[in-house]
Amino acid sequence: MQTITLPQLIYNQIIAHAQAGAPDEVCGILSGRDGVATGLVRGRNEAADPLTTYWVDGETLLKQFDFEERGEAMIAIYHSHPADEAYPSAIDAANAFYPDAVYLICSLLQPGQPDLRGWRLIQEELAERPAQLQPVRGNPRLWAQHKHGQQEDSYELMIVEDQGRERWLRVWVAEVAVVVHNLVLSMQHAPDP
Ligand SMILES: [Zn+2]
Repeated sequence: MQTITLPQLIYNQIIAHAQAGAPDEVCGILSGRDGVATGLVRGRNEAADPLTTYWVDGETLLKQFDFEERGEAMIAIYHSHPADEAYPSAIDAANAFYPDAVYLICSLLQPGQPDLRGWRLIQEELAERPAQLQPVRGNPRLWAQHKHGQQEDSYELMIVEDQGRERWLRVWVAEVAVVVHNLVLSMQHAPDP
C-alpha cells in the first residue's frame, strides 16, 4: 500500500477544520513533496449540498501553482464526512479529477474518534454503459454501482451531462496509508549523511 505522511500539526488541522465545519463537509488541499505533506490550505466548500458533498473553490485549487513554483505539488485534497465513514462516495469518485493526488477523508461518524483515511481515485473512461447502475440519491445526473475487488474496489458510474450526453466511467479506489509523524523530532534524530 502507498503511504502519505502527515506531520502531526497538519493531521490535527484537518480534524479541527472538519469539527469546526460540521455538520457541513469541509475541504482543503495539502502541499508537499515525495508523499510528505508540508502545508495546509483551507478551502471553501462550494457544493450545492455541503451536507453530503464537497467542491473545492477555484481560488484554493489555484494555490497548487504556488506550490509548484517552490518545487512542491498539491499532494492531497482533503474533505470531511461528518456523518459517514471515511470511504469515498460515488460523487467523490465522479469528481476525482486529480489522479496524482491523495484524497484524504476525515470521518466524524464516531463521536470523539475522528478517522482520517487516504485514497487514490483513478478514473478510466468506459466504452460501454455499465450494467446494473443505481441512481445516486440527491444527484439526478449520477448513477453508480460499487464493486468490491480482490485487489481494489471500484465504482462504475454514469454521468449525465448537459444535453443528455452520457459519460461512462470506472473509478479505481485504492487505499493509501496515512502515517502521522512528528517531523521535527525525526529530523533531530536523523543520522548524519
Ligand atoms: Zn466524500
